[in-house]
Amino acid sequence: MAITCDVAILGGGTGGYVAAIRAAQLGKHVVIIEQDKIGGTCLHRGCIPSKALLRSAELYADMKDSESYGIETDGVRLKFGGVQRRKEGIVEKLYQGVQYLMRKNKITVVEGIGRVIGPSIFSPRSGAVAVELPDGEMETVVPTHLIIATGSRPRHLAGLEVDGIHIMTSDHALHMDELPSSIVIVGGGVIGVEWASMLNDFGVQVTLLEASSQLLPAEDEEIGRELEKLLKSRGVEVMTNMKLLTDSCEIVDRHVSIQIEQNGESRSLSAEKLLLSVGRVGNTENIGLENTDVRIENGFIAVNGNMQTTEPHIYAIGDCIGGLQLAHAASHEGITAVNHLAGEKMESYRSEWIPRCIYTRPEAASVGLTEKQAKERGYELKIGKFPFSAIGKSLVNGTKEGFVKVIADKQTEDILGVHMIGPHVTELIGEAALAQVLDATPWEVGSAVHAHPSLSEVIGEAMLAVDGRSIGI
Ligand code: FAD
Repeated sequence: MAITCDVAILGGGTGGYVAAIRAAQLGKHVVIIEQDKIGGTCLHRGCIPSKALLRSAELYADMKDSESYGIETDGVRLKFGGVQRRKEGIVEKLYQGVQYLMRKNKITVVEGIGRVIGPSIFSPRSGAVAVELPDGEMETVVPTHLIIATGSRPRHLAGLEVDGIHIMTSDHALHMDELPSSIVIVGGGVIGVEWASMLNDFGVQVTLLEASSQLLPAEDEEIGRELEKLLKSRGVEVMTNMKLLTDSCEIVDRHVSIQIEQNGESRSLSAEKLLLSVGRVGNTENIGLENTDVRIENGFIAVNGNMQTTEPHIYAIGDCIGGLQLAHAASHEGITAVNHLAGEKMESYRSEWIPRCIYTRPEAASVGLTEKQAKERGYELKIGKFPFSAIGKSLVNGTKEGFVKVIADKQTEDILGVHMIGPHVTELIGEAALAQVLDATPWEVGSAVHAHPSLSEVIGEAMLAVDGRSIGI
């Protein structure tokens, strides 16, 4: 017997379970098909566990620096087993929370591997899902609408065999029993820089390799450069414009050895571990898309602004459609898809409004266009910048690095992009994201009174700086 429902969701990660809850709130009968654990990458292998480790690393670094606050300690010792246990406890608590939400919203969770099937005895059109259950039995879910939310997995590089011991992805690194003495991190995108910052704080010797000319290639150039400077000042060896000769990779004496080329010169690197963080591939294979007319572009499922695929009753959201590949983007896309299929009134989806956060020490965060992107689109720009070194609360907190940069359109006064690096900017970016949604000008945001002393003053000042009106410098 098949399970019929209004909405089936293939994949119970952030995108999938948020879409399920929204659909249930709208009175839909919802089925989620999940092959592993509800919560997906973000909860079990991504945002939450990595941020828990980063928090321990930050605290450890602060404790080692306690004398600068006038506090003498009798020696600070790191117990990495305890760090891992704390992380696992947080993940478990949140996992229980997501399971509770499934029960509370009366969402049926089918455990198993799902594949979309074509027209069949169950349905005259594609979009039903055949599920292989853990005991080998098969179940069929027949929905009116299907949402594909199968997520992504780490990209590998030809020639580098990931063994999970010497050569790892973030999936393996999260479960390390003990810290290595040294590591080469390949890829200076978000995951690479977060691991570089964290492992450096834990006392690991880190070499960070990036093929393009800046760290965080998708971010504003000034942010990438500032982060590179700050990581270097903490002892991370950062190499940009670098080519990895993957065929040269070998394991010698339990160390990874690999050749690189930079500015025409080659060099050999050796470390106890190598972490590969060169992007993520959409999980679009082996899910039955060949049985449908759903189009794949560059490895990701193509969707329109309502998240509909080329088969309008099949939607796709989250990492499997590419784009920003962030948890809050996935959930926003899930809500967009459900609102559309349910005929709810909604704003159309604008990816420029999604904030991007990077949890290094110090943090980086942005929303909207980079300076280069804004120029490429032909805008005439006004730019305001304000440093954290002139913000009282920042010095009180023991940090003086970083800045906020606001990019505005000279003609319309619209805020085009806000880029931040400094303490707690992953919290501060919310004000910039709100300003964009409300279509506020820099002057309007700067006119809001920002409390003193608070880190938020940096936003008010950077917004006023767009028109040369900042007070602080
Ligand atoms: P996923 O969370 O990957 O969920 C997909 C689900 O589909 C999985 O549970 C999978 O088991 C299931 N599935 C796949 N195929 C099938 C099938 N055939 N049948 C049944 N089930 C299937 N994002 C942020 O916003 N902030 C962060 O700080 C952040 N940190 C990160 C750190 C790391 C180390 C990593 C790897 C990622 C991080 N991300 C972060 C990205 C974030 O985790 C993803 O963007 C988010 O999880 C995407 O959600 P999703 O629902 O699209 O996919």
